[in-house]
Amino acid sequence: MSYCVNCGVELDKTCAVCPLCNTKVCNPNEETDHVSPPPFPVRRGYTEPVQRGDITILLSVVLAVTAVVCGLLNFFVFSSNAWSLYVIGGCVLLWIFCLPVFFAKVNVYASIVLDGIGIALYFGMIAWRHPGNGWYMALALPLTGLAAAMILLFVAGIRRIRLSILSSSVLVLGEAAVFMVAVELLIRSFRQLPPGITWSAVVLTCCVIIDAALLTVIRRSRLREEVRRRMHI
Ligand SMILES: [Zn+2]
Repeated sequence: MSYCVNCGVELDKTCAVCPLCNTKVCNPNEETDHVSPPPFPVRRGYTEPVQRGDITILLSVVLAVTAVVCGLLNFFVFSSNAWSLYVIGGCVLLWIFCLPVFFAKVNVYASIVLDGIGIALYFGMIAWRHPGNGWYMALALPLTGLAAAMILLFVAGIRRIRLSILSSSVLVLGEAAVFMVAVELLIRSFRQLPPGITWSAVVLTCCVIIDAALLTVIRRSRLREEVRRRMHI
């Protein structure tokens, strides 16, 4: 029985070099067995890297089959209501979300607009299935549009102006504050309350304080470099 002098691993009699660290095997008391087959394969296994097209086919098949099977299940077995519409809509929505993963040349701005339209249509389907108090036009549609516009603004900031991580954080916090204020204003309008802000004012205050701190850090080069050094950004 031989052991590697470098890493100590137990060696088979057929080993001319250590399979772990490639150190030459040299045991004066035991000749290397060149006749018996080695206990492990000598050729390295190779698998081709997964391509974008493979992911596209896999996810498309899974989503399409899910939509079709749920539709059939709804039609033939559990047919008391049209529940499969939500599943089918969700599958279509997920497929639209994955477009930038599927196709490398998809325009990111067009993709975000398409995502927004998809979400608005999905909410529209829910509103159509459950016609009620007008929540779709009063809340869902304006908030979806606002969220899409904010994501577009953020992506434009990252891609066109090439904002740093600190500047991006300022933008995200500012957008979050505006979004929360818009949510509260729309909810109050929907409930026919007088315009005003309460809880969103707290969010707004926190965002303003953090943004002020971040902007000060960005403006002062010594602070900025210290933050970058400590946070590895
Ligand atoms: Zn070794």
